[in-house]
Amino acid sequence: MLGPMDTGEIRARYLNFFAARGHAIIPRAPIVPREDPTTLFTGSGMQPLLPYLLGTSHPAGDRLVNSQTSFRAEDIDEIGDNRHTTFFEMLGNWSLGSYFKAEQLPWLFTFLVDELGLDPSRLYATAFGGAPQYGIPRDDESARLWVGLFEGRGIPAPVADLGSMQRAAELGMGDARVFFYDETKSWWSRAGAPQSMPVGEPGGPDSEVFFEFPQIPHDPAFGPYCHPHCDCGRFLEIGNSVFMQYLRTDTGFTQLPRQNVDFGGGLERMAMAVADNPDVFLIDVLSPIVAGIEDLAGVTYAEHQAPMRIIADHVRAVVFFALDGLVPSNTAQGYVMRRLARRAIRQGHLLGIEDGLLTGLVDSVVGAYKEAFPELAEQRDRIASILAGEELLFRRTLSRGVREFGRLARNGLTGDGVFVLFDTYRFPPELSVEEARRTGVPVDPAWPGRYDQLMSEQRERSRTAAAGMFKGGLADHSASTTRLHTATHLVHQALRTVLGPHVVQRGSNITPERLRFDFSHPSKLTPEQIAEVERIVNENIARDWPMTWREVPTDQAFAEGAIGAFGDKYGETVKVYTAGDPDGVWYSKEICGGPHVERTGSLGHFRITKEESSSAGVRRIRAVLE
Ligand SMILES: [Zn+2]
Ligand SMILES: [Zn+2]
Repeated sequence: MLGPMDTGEIRARYLNFFAARGHAIIPRAPIVPREDPTTLFTGSGMQPLLPYLLGTSHPAGDRLVNSQTSFRAEDIDEIGDNRHTTFFEMLGNWSLGSYFKAEQLPWLFTFLVDELGLDPSRLYATAFGGAPQYGIPRDDESARLWVGLFEGRGIPAPVADLGSMQRAAELGMGDARVFFYDETKSWWSRAGAPQSMPVGEPGGPDSEVFFEFPQIPHDPAFGPYCHPHCDCGRFLEIGNSVFMQYLRTDTGFTQLPRQNVDFGGGLERMAMAVADNPDVFLIDVLSPIVAGIEDLAGVTYAEHQAPMRIIADHVRAVVFFALDGLVPSNTAQGYVMRRLARRAIRQGHLLGIEDGLLTGLVDSVVGAYKEAFPELAEQRDRIASILAGEELLFRRTLSRGVREFGRLARNGLTGDGVFVLFDTYRFPPELSVEEARRTGVPVDPAWPGRYDQLMSEQRERSRTAAAGMFKGGLADHSASTTRLHTATHLVHQALRTVLGPHVVQRGSNITPERLRFDFSHPSKLTPEQIAEVERIVNENIARDWPMTWREVPTDQAFAEGAIGAFGDKYGETVKVYTAGDPDGVWYSKEICGGPHVERTGSLGHFRITKEESSSAGVRRIRAVLE
């Protein structure tokens, strides 16, 4: 008998299935979005298609399908369990006003059951339970379709209204097969639930399909009863159909004139269901990487699951990053790549892999993906050399840390020692402890508390320094003026994003009521450009970036990407304010005296009230926070 269908076969069958139903197969977008500088990574198949879902016509037609390499940085700390990965492939099909629920749900069900051979009695479906306060009805149509599909296979399909996550955990699922959930689980819009959507924003109900692993018992830590959205791991979401059906108006919601379908399904998750294996690291594309780690470390996956999962996930991600042209660095995407690479090396170090971790695993990744991504094999040497360079750099940091460890912790490792090793030499705390164990140096059991205390004292020092700043051209230092000043930095960056890098600040005037900002740009802004600037600023307010500053040599400030104002003269060093992590992921860096808010989340809603000419080649906007 043949083994279970592998991911390559699942991907091919999906693309063919939808191609046979009139869908154009479109190429994947690169992992770093080309046209959207406000987002670090392509996190779904929908993201690059958003303009088309919002109304632009797509050159390939109104039915599209693809498999999109995706990355979600917010999942980095969750890696280590049996189902989370930062990098994954998302299978997607889209209807741009062509078909709707009555086609999408039966096609999806047919694909899962007849193409992948999944047992329909292991599948469960959800639909939106309605938001009566906004006049949005329950999505009975989707529920009815699911009931008919299950009954067509001889499976009774009672419907249960579970509502919220809490209510679902209290009620349990009984003998139901189709479930209504509230807007926290079964509604999609860019802004989230209906109440958060601005006027003019499209959104709609969604419908998930889950696969059950009966071999996983429910974990009561997640509530008395299990249900499809329970986080215990018994139910795995393998796909979600979003029905873009409604438009937010001044008074409530209306039906969109052109309704879209946006389906996204996890390729690796479908492979887990097909293999009936709840461990994603044992499916065909990840298990060779795990085997490669076992070879390098000389220990087994069974005994070291969590570190091997972290390594396998992170190495796969950095190989695809390198394929798409990224290199490790200290800014934005490059920093995330560096963080992943170094975390993998550290985890490998703890397993006893002293060298050649990244380069030793490149071929496992290339081998696992060589049919679907032949370009990986073609660029294997380039990728390996990027990763080898990063490993060399980090291993130097590590060996310097080991040397300093010998000096600082000769008579025992304390919280102070761990702090200095990390703060000054970037030697990670867990490796200090490991080094103590290796060399037989006693470890102060109270080190974690002391280390945390020193770290938070240091954070406090930079905050106090930031708070004691001088005036810098503002009307006053009221809370309101300070918030508008931070908003000025965000809008400066947003204008550069929307209009281009020729945008430079030409003047700024801030009162407690409003900001005024002059910038170089040759022509009047269109209403669309103004709306896009507002959207980006509000998105970065919502991201709740920390605002921090540090003083650096002026050359370094510009090399790091900091922006300044036209005609300003700078000394040898300048103060740079960053929204985000100055050494990591950041949105705005600007040379400035401050003061600023602590986090952008405190700004409120940003709105441009006026756009006009200031002088030749210079535009002026006024904006408020409300
Ligand atoms: Zn559960
Ligand atoms: Zn400023």
